Amino acid sequence: MPEKLPRWADKFGYKGFISLDHHKPCCARMMKDDEFFREIESNCWDAHKRMEECDHHHVDMQVLSTIPVLFHYWAKADDANDTARFLNDHIASIVHDFPQRFSGLATLPMQSATLSVKEISRAKKLGLSGIEIGSNVNDLNLNERQFFDIYEAAEAEDMCVFVHPWNMMGAKNMQQYWLPWLVGMPAETSRAICSMIFGGVFERFPKLKVAFAHGGGSFPSTIGRVQHGFDVRPDLTAIDNDVSPSTYLGKFFVDTLTHDPRALQYIIDLIGENKVMLGTDYPFPLGELEPGKVVEELNASQGIKDKLLFENALEWLGIDTKRLNIK
Ligand SMILES: [Zn+2]
Repeated sequence: MPEKLPRWADKFGYKGFISLDHHKPCCARMMKDDEFFREIESNCWDAHKRMEECDHHHVDMQVLSTIPVLFHYWAKADDANDTARFLNDHIASIVHDFPQRFSGLATLPMQSATLSVKEISRAKKLGLSGIEIGSNVNDLNLNERQFFDIYEAAEAEDMCVFVHPWNMMGAKNMQQYWLPWLVGMPAETSRAICSMIFGGVFERFPKLKVAFAHGGGSFPSTIGRVQHGFDVRPDLTAIDNDVSPSTYLGKFFVDTLTHDPRALQYIIDLIGENKVMLGTDYPFPLGELEPGKVVEELNASQGIKDKLLFENALEWLGIDTKRLNIK
């Protein structure tokens, strides 16, 4: 994200936007109006700091995406379009300056398909590789028809799609113990995957390259239940798409961010070695603090580890290996 955010609340005339309080060098408080949201460090905005940390962890390239709290799906569409363009311009400028070290995903004003479709084309021209969207859009699931134009445009422009959980279901009822992040996020990701499967999104847009964060959340461990539900109650599940859910295993990507070698091995077996790729959640605490460690420690061939560490991600992003300066 940029080091300085415009005063969006003043500009648009209503509240709810994040501002940054740079209360000491190297750190800032993200404030939602007067309410403290999260402390962030300079590695959120300083590309040089990021590259230093990447070098330390032997990371050649990072994929930049916007922090979900800045999605602004709740705002007026024109205003969310304004903030998305600002954030995307910033990511694109870093990718432009350091193309071997960074690639980027655009955020979209998902509350307007028309504006989102325009922004996909603009982001493509700016050199971004794909888009990042939330697991729901103001509580609408990703199978809603109003998003189909967006998927169609992403597919046509060959822009990959990264689905990240946010606006977690049930959050209000489980504020303690970090439960929105520990329980809500994995459930949100499963909600997104199931909505896209049952809604026929993968059927309708077969070339759309979709990736889900955090190892697919709770989806991989509940696919048996999902498939069984489809088999016994097609009257409830097969209303928009009569293709069996397990057919889609291997058709979408998930990241490796499971924090557990057994879980990672399971998703490789389930989703396939060509569709699992390194995810870090850098620089936040629920991420893999030593990026790639769980992959490196897998009992797998170097060929499979290379797929997980970079080859699958490059395939998803549509980036040629030549762009990287692999040592
Ligand atoms: Zn994440």
